[in-house]
Parts: sequence; C-alpha cells; structure tokens
Amino acid sequence: MENDCVFCKIISGEIKAKTVFSDELITVFEDIHPVAPVHLLIVPNKHISSINQIQDEDSPVLARLFYVARDLAKQHGIDEKGFRVMVNTGKDGKQTVFHLHMHLIGGRELAGRLMN
Ligand code: 5GP
Ligand code: ZN
Repeated sequence: MENDCVFCKIISGEIKAKTVFSDELITVFEDIHPVAPVHLLIVPNKHISSINQIQDEDSPVLARLFYVARDLAKQHGIDEKGFRVMVNTGKDGKQTVFHLHMHLIGGRELAGRLMN
C-alpha cells in the first residue's frame, strides 16, 4: 500500500471501482474511461510502480497478469476475435498511474497494429 496511489486505494476498497475479479495476487476492474466495449485494468495487489521496478521475486504475479488476461478475454467472448494488452511505462510511454497495470482492450476492431 503506497500513500496517494489511486490503484492501491481501489485494491483496499478505499476508492470504489467496478471490480470484476480479485484474488490474493491480482485485482481487475473496469477502466473509468473505457476506449472500447471491454477495457479492464489487471493490477497486481502489490504496489509496483512500473515495469522499471519489477524484481525476480515478482515472477508469479507477472505471469498471473497474462493468465488472468486470458481468462477474462474468454469470459468476455473476445478471445477468438482478438484483443490487445498494453502496459504503458514512464513519461514517453504515457503512463499516468504509477502502479503497474495491464490494459485489456477489445470488443471492437482496434486501430492500427499499435497505438502511437
Ligand atoms: P495509464 O495511462 O497509466 O496506462 O492508465 C491508467 C488508466 O487508469 C487510464 O486508462 C485511466 O482511465 C484509468 N484510471 C485512472 N484513475 C482511475 C480510477 O480512479 N478508477 C478507474 N476505474 N480507472 C482509473
Ligand atoms: Zn499502488
């Protein structure tokens, strides 16, 4: 739990969000400004600021981000048609919340191969 971290506050329940999944490692909630019919944020419960701060000991939670993305894509019926996962990092990567998170975006055909 990091002071003044909005995602830590969502994970602890201090700030409300539309949570769709949680377990001991991960919390998933709907993005407040969705860019597609499915736009979920898959978030480690542990405060890790960005990819730059991940450590070897974080391997289980990092793997779990992908397993949860796989399961939620299937649950939302977008696994076959496709979807995108993104982890924005740092200033040039346009990261705005400095608590590591994976965007899971789908439910429509997305523009381009990459957003740039
Ligand atoms: P980033 O730009 O850091 O990759 O993504 C941060 C995302 O968090 C943005 O898409 C933004 O809409 C979302 N977000 C920021 N604050 C909140 C919040 O309080 N609740 C929810 N559900 N999403 C938020
Ligand atoms: Zn945090």
